[in-house]
Amino acid sequence: MNNTRKQYLNEYELRDLLQCERAGCPCKRVDVEGKMIGFTHCPAHLPDNNPSLKVETKEYGSYKDYTFFDCKTGCDYKDVRAGVARERMEQQK
Ligand SMILES: [Zn+2]
Ligand SMILES: [Zn+2]
Repeated sequence: MNNTRKQYLNEYELRDLLQCERAGCPCKRVDVEGKMIGFTHCPAHLPDNNPSLKVETKEYGSYKDYTFFDCKTGCDYKDVRAGVARERMEQQK
């Protein structure tokens, strides 16, 4: 099988996906270069009104830019992954 479709989102695509509509929400914080920083909303325990999902890009095995996420309220990584997949489905409708 020759599946070239990307299996995971990069940090910015992920933040974009999980960003809410609320004006002034910390999930929209950007640094001086316009890069999004800080916490975003965890899709595993919605509604996550106070952004609690840390997203960062790290090297992981053969990946140069693997996207890690970690919910500070303690959601399981698998649940967060499943939540992200669900959000992607929702937005593709
Ligand atoms: Zn938000
Ligand atoms: Zn969570």
